[in-house]
Amino acid sequence: MPNCFLCGTKIPPKARHIRRKVKTGERILNRYPSRRISAVNAIYGMRVVCGTCAKSMDSFRFSGELWKGVGILALLFVVFVLLVIDQ
Ligand SMILES: [Zn+2]
Repeated sequence: MPNCFLCGTKIPPKARHIRRKVKTGERILNRYPSRRISAVNAIYGMRVVCGTCAKSMDSFRFSGELWKGVGILALLFVVFVLLVIDQ
């Protein structure tokens, strides 16, 4: 019986297995002499998640895309107003 990768809930074997791209780890690159962190690479993979986690991930991604769209529209509106004022 598979478990949800995020919350650990047991998923029945006959239930639909929902897969989402989740962060599975990270790799830290250090500079040699100083041992300071120079880069952190996130590693993502497709994992089985439960319905609740899939819904929350989808709504979070949708709200992020929604705010990107609102930002682009606001930027276009500002450019339009500046063009109208110039004439
Ligand atoms: Zn879950």
